[in-house]
Amino acid sequence: MDLNTVASYRAARTRDDLVLAEGEVLLGGGTWLYSEPQPRARGLVDLTTMGWPATERRPEGLRIAATCTIAELARLEPDPSWRAHPLFAQCADALLASFKVWRVATVGGNVCRGFAAGAMTALCAALDASALVWTPDGGSRTLPVAELVTGNGRTALGPGEVLRALDVPAHALHARTALRRIALAERGRSGALVIGRVDDDGSAVFCVTAAVPRPAVLRYDGLPGTDALARDVRALEGFYTDPFGAADWRRHVSGVLAAQVREELAA
Ligand SMILES: Cc1cc2nc3c(=O)[nH]c(=O)nc-3n(C[C@H](O)[C@H](O)[C@H](O)COP(=O)(O)OP(=O)(O)OC[C@H]3O[C@@H](n4cnc5c(N)ncnc54)[C@H](O)[C@@H]3O)c2cc1C
Repeated sequence: MDLNTVASYRAARTRDDLVLAEGEVLLGGGTWLYSEPQPRARGLVDLTTMGWPATERRPEGLRIAATCTIAELARLEPDPSWRAHPLFAQCADALLASFKVWRVATVGGNVCRGFAAGAMTALCAALDASALVWTPDGGSRTLPVAELVTGNGRTALGPGEVLRALDVPAHALHARTALRRIALAERGRSGALVIGRVDDDGSAVFCVTAAVPRPAVLRYDGLPGTDALARDVRALEGFYTDPFGAADWRRHVSGVLAAQVREELAA
């Protein structure tokens, strides 16, 4: 769609270029920005020209640039120790979009848009990724991705803050994982998405997204029993109703999906 209030475009190349003037908005892949009217936007500042490497392998884990596209992440060659690697493609698949969207939509754009059905948010939250945020005063801060998204379409980002990268810790990359999702329509937006993870030390993490407005992360010392897990999941707060599912359905199926994820991880 034409953004007919936008009068300027800047390709950012340095951090100074990311200081936003009145009305300027950050542009990732633009797949959401160009999908609906942006009446308050006066200018676009393109992040994809910053030249950040899409991914960086580090001893402490994997750094995913905010500008890494969903396609780049889905086809990333894994290290042999990354048992969690199938989750990358599974989460890319959970974002119901064509390959054309995959090729330009960025991981950072998905997280910063903050939709409950943000599959990159689900991936990062389930893998305990932290978000590196550049603040407008030239500083930076980090926070868990699970806390960056604060509601359906809301984030903890302040004015002028830029998500620079998502850091996935090595221990989570080494974990066994499983994912289940459900949507009312075969190719519809996720109504509930549950990811489970078992670390090398036996501890287990279950992350529920899409069914609740912000990622819900449950942690256990070991795999919980099926009934206890389903009960904990259904006791989460915030199951909501929208055209993609009713709250009581979301609550129920989240418990079912969590039990299925648990069974797969227990096998
Ligand atoms: C057909 C189709 C299907 C879709 N399906 C889904 C879906 O299932 N789930 C879902 O969550 N979304 C979906 N979307 C919405 C959107 O495409 C995705 O959320 C996508 O990942 C957004 O990434 P982007 O790089 O295109 O973001 P953009 O559109 O460029 O930006 C999105 C928002 O984030 C801000 N932003 C971008 N990068 C940063 C950054 N690094 N720091 C700070 N702010 C930033 C922008 O200013 C803007 O407000 C869909 C879109 C289409 C067209």
